[in-house]
Amino acid sequence: MKIVLLGAPGTGKGTQAQFIANKYKLSIISTGNILRNEIKKKTNLGFKIEEFIIKGKLVQNSIIMEIIKNELTQKKYKNGFILDGFPRTIEQAEYLKRNKTIINYVFEFKLSEEKILQRIKKRKIDAITGLTYNKKIFNKNNFQANNLISRSDDREEIIKKRLTEYKKYIVSLKNFYMQESNNYNLLYYEINSENKIEIINQKIQNYLENKNINYKCKTY
Ligand code: AMP
Repeated sequence: MKIVLLGAPGTGKGTQAQFIANKYKLSIISTGNILRNEIKKKTNLGFKIEEFIIKGKLVQNSIIMEIIKNELTQKKYKNGFILDGFPRTIEQAEYLKRNKTIINYVFEFKLSEEKILQRIKKRKIDAITGLTYNKKIFNKNNFQANNLISRSDDREEIIKKRLTEYKKYIVSLKNFYMQESNNYNLLYYEINSENKIEIINQKIQNYLENKNINYKCKTY
């Protein structure tokens, strides 16, 4: 099963990626996490990447494609994967297609800009694992807060730039996958990220298991 998660920052892609990964024993490919790890290593490539990320800009396609190319050759993705944060441009989507990576499901997470800003202000990541937590989750699970930090690109002025970048590409990405869904059995679903995490978990599970589905997104 090969799944793509589309959605602006703060719409819950990372949280749902975790849920799908645990439930269906799939590995996650998060380009954002891979890039942040490269920055941590303080390599030349890392410095180059950081310049884009701290400005809220997308990292060059050539760098991202190289990362994806390396990832996809790994054995752990043999039975499928969840792509979180890739593709973000048509070139990236075309790259998957060219490499005969057949995507089975695309979930597009939708949330108003106002709610996105509220949520991102509250979120933290684990400095070691890169996993994202919102206030509610880390209170509930009694986390050791020591490792939890704010992302440097989660500042309001940067989030706004990231949202602008997202809006530049989402319509064409959606059209691309809509077109693909006419060509082969790819299913595209919109997810209302205003819902509670557990409700979204259930919805995604239903979609993946073809239960109670009364909606397949076909139009924009
Ligand atoms: P994310 O963790 O997915 O929100 O990504 C954080 C940042 O990494 C983004 O704002 C971009 O600067 C960069 N990034 C992540 N994935 C991609 C991608 N597929 N293409 C270009 N830039 C990316």
